[in-house]
Amino acid sequence: MGVRLKIPKNHVRAASLRIRERLVEGEENNVVTKSGLIAHGRGEAFDYLIGEETIPAALFATRAAAAALLLASHPVISVNGNAAALVPGEMVRLSEAVPAPLEVNLFYRSRERELAVRDALVAAGAKRVLGVGRAASARIPELFSERRKVDPRGIYAADVVLVPLEDGDRTMALKKMNKFVITIDLNPLSRTAQTADITIVDNIIRALPNLVAAVDELRSQERSVLKEILESFDNRKNLSNMLIHIRDRLTRLAEEQ
Ligand code: ATP
Ligand code: MG
Repeated sequence: MGVRLKIPKNHVRAASLRIRERLVEGEENNVVTKSGLIAHGRGEAFDYLIGEETIPAALFATRAAAAALLLASHPVISVNGNAAALVPGEMVRLSEAVPAPLEVNLFYRSRERELAVRDALVAAGAKRVLGVGRAASARIPELFSERRKVDPRGIYAADVVLVPLEDGDRTMALKKMNKFVITIDLNPLSRTAQTADITIVDNIIRALPNLVAAVDELRSQERSVLKEILESFDNRKNLSNMLIHIRDRLTRLAEEQ
């Protein structure tokens, strides 16, 4: 067990430090991998550049994502270690709101980690979790070994998949299988962000509650309205707006120095 830091309430970065603590705890419980900790650092760096807030372009993508999930005939929500450590309750709420099953989807898959991630979701209220043990028996073509296992009832059969914090190779493989891919990724330049159909460039901590709220708000809308929301969304344009936001913010900060 590592030494627990006591984080003073008035610390300027208290929220960020608490999130790190959750991941460190997740690593000790087998939910998060060491690479997951490194990936979080990458995300934090981009969050600094964005300003650690949800900007309009991210909210726009969130609404499009909600519409895509509601229009899907077989939507699936993929959960990895970082997502299970950071937002297990919101994952369960989203799964119920759409509704869409949760599937354990790990880059570094082992029996122990599958069970740890499932247990984190069950502890947060999940009644059913796909992709554990023999259930993860289908294969994504073009990926090697444990990285490509998916559940034949879940991601393998899905038309729309939400894959937050996903790796670029795997996102590309899902696209080749003709999946409509929604991701949440703080790095607008990552291969995942660039390959997905909808990229929510926001911290998963802020994006998931917004996505649940958008699904709740849009659920009663006609399909034609949802289709309009989806068709008016252009991921390239939205990523471009994210980069322009970062550029303008950095220009402003540079001029203030
Ligand atoms: P890619 O493989 O897509 O080119 P990568 O190899 O740099 O990207 P991965 O580890 O494969 O990164 O994917 C993790 C992604 O998740 C990174 O782009 C990282 O910025 C992002 N990320 C990490 N933590 C968060 C978070 N809390 N919220 C949103 N995104 C995050
Ligand atoms: Mg990667």
